[in-house]
Amino acid sequence: MRCGKIVCVGQNYREHIREMRSDEPAEPVLFLKPSTSLISDGEAILIPEGIGTVHHEVELALIVGKGGRDIAEKDALSHISQVSVFNDVTARDVQSAARKAGLPWALAKGMDTFAPLGERVPLDRVPDIHSLDLELRVNGEFRQKGNTAQMIFPPERLIAHISRFMTLEPGDIIATGTPSGVGPLRPGDVVEATVHGVGTLRNPVRMR
Ligand code: MG
Repeated sequence: MRCGKIVCVGQNYREHIREMRSDEPAEPVLFLKPSTSLISDGEAILIPEGIGTVHHEVELALIVGKGGRDIAEKDALSHISQVSVFNDVTARDVQSAARKAGLPWALAKGMDTFAPLGERVPLDRVPDIHSLDLELRVNGEFRQKGNTAQMIFPPERLIAHISRFMTLEPGDIIATGTPSGVGPLRPGDVVEATVHGVGTLRNPVRMR
């Protein structure tokens, strides 16, 4: 299934908001990644020369099966066919400079290979997406831990909010935000993002 867009949610876990020194949002914070940033399990994350620090962010991804707009919260999960593990790779220095200047984050988030996505698992094979442990390791060393129960805006709310403004289409991906513990990726690293009950996504990191 072709992916038309990746809708990402920023600042959806309190501990991560604290570590980024941001304020808790009143409504979901949304941004997009282009479909050209997608890579699969095992493919390399490629860091372009001269962009400064690049961070990992483990997230639960929702994959749209049935499109729609103005989707009600009570119907939201019927529009999701699969879930997966996502790593919202971020050029943090580029993002920080943009934030400071009041400019968009598109480049910091949308570079080629900055959207690793794991194996897609049918939603009905996952126990409960509202209480899944998330975890991330770099070279086997533990970096991030959280649980989807800690989301400020749960999946139903995100789907309803996004689809009020952007039509969701089959194949679209929604990345639901990262817990705390984000940190740097360096060439030679291997990053492993896990959502328990969904799977593990493993990617080596190289200079481009
Ligand atoms: Mg993120």
